[in-house]
Amino acid sequence: MQFSDAPDVLVVGAGPVGLTAAAELRRRGVGCRLVDRLPARLPYAKAVGIQPRTLEVWDRMGLVREALDAAVPMRGQLVYVDGAEEARIELTLPEEVPYGFAALPQYETERVLEEFLARFGTRIERGTELRSLTQDADGVTARLVTASGTEEEVRTRYLVGCDGAHSTVRKALGLTFEGSAFPEEYMLADVEVDWDLPPGYGVRSLHRGADGAVDDLLVCIPLPGTGRYRMSMLVPPELSAAPGAAG
Ligand SMILES: Cc1cc2nc3c(=O)[nH]c(=O)nc-3n(C[C@H](O)[C@H](O)[C@H](O)COP(=O)(O)OP(=O)(O)OC[C@H]3O[C@@H](n4cnc5c(N)ncnc54)[C@H](O)[C@@H]3O)c2cc1C
Repeated sequence: MQFSDAPDVLVVGAGPVGLTAAAELRRRGVGCRLVDRLPARLPYAKAVGIQPRTLEVWDRMGLVREALDAAVPMRGQLVYVDGAEEARIELTLPEEVPYGFAALPQYETERVLEEFLARFGTRIERGTELRSLTQDADGVTARLVTASGTEEEVRTRYLVGCDGAHSTVRKALGLTFEGSAFPEEYMLADVEVDWDLPPGYGVRSLHRGADGAVDDLLVCIPLPGTGRYRMSMLVPPELSAAPGAAG
């Protein structure tokens, strides 16, 4: 077991939330360590839509140019019902709003934030997992296991839990997770398509069954690159892994 002190803050989890927390601390001169149990960034698009307000925040932080260089503008959405175009929604904004909507895959958001953080000399300590923590009136003691398998006990003033939906920090603090998962199962893919739909528009295509209820759904979100989209669709029963599903 190795014993160490973290600078003021230990941030657990280097997804968009942990990277943002670490970047905000570092740019205000607060020392922090940032750990993530994954050995590398995941290559899946995951969260893609960037709101105009996020771009304003990134502008204030000083990384909006890098983000926009990697993103594509989102111009609107095409809605199809049973194969026919039903609506074309334009994402227009009042003139005083400085940025529009954009599409940026999550791995690019994470890359931009990670590179920004590196400017302050802070890098993600990858392959490092938080196993447990205890807190007292003066701070937090965290037990980490590093990529080499070394156990490390870290003493820090604050620990910020940014470790996602199955958070170890949340469970260690006995906090509840209200709500439940949606019953629908989706399958996702990043694909290149050859079609004549206008670039920069998301596509939402519904199919209704004989009873009028939606029985199939395809959602396509533009990604940077020619003809690239993140597509998601309902999993048909014969491909479902859910208990009780056909197949
Ligand atoms: C397949 C998929 C598609 C998605 N599509 C969309 C979408 O279209 N739009 C949308 O808005 N959102 C989407 N999401 C959700 C989006 O990815 C999450 O909302 C977002 O990642 C949350 O960011 P976060 O930083 O809170 O957590 P995460 O991105 O989950 O990051 C948490 C990090 O903590 C690390 N970690 C976890 N436990 C520990 C531990 N004990 N010790 C150290 N590190 C730890 C993990 O390795 C991870 O890197 C999608 C998610 C998935 C899985």
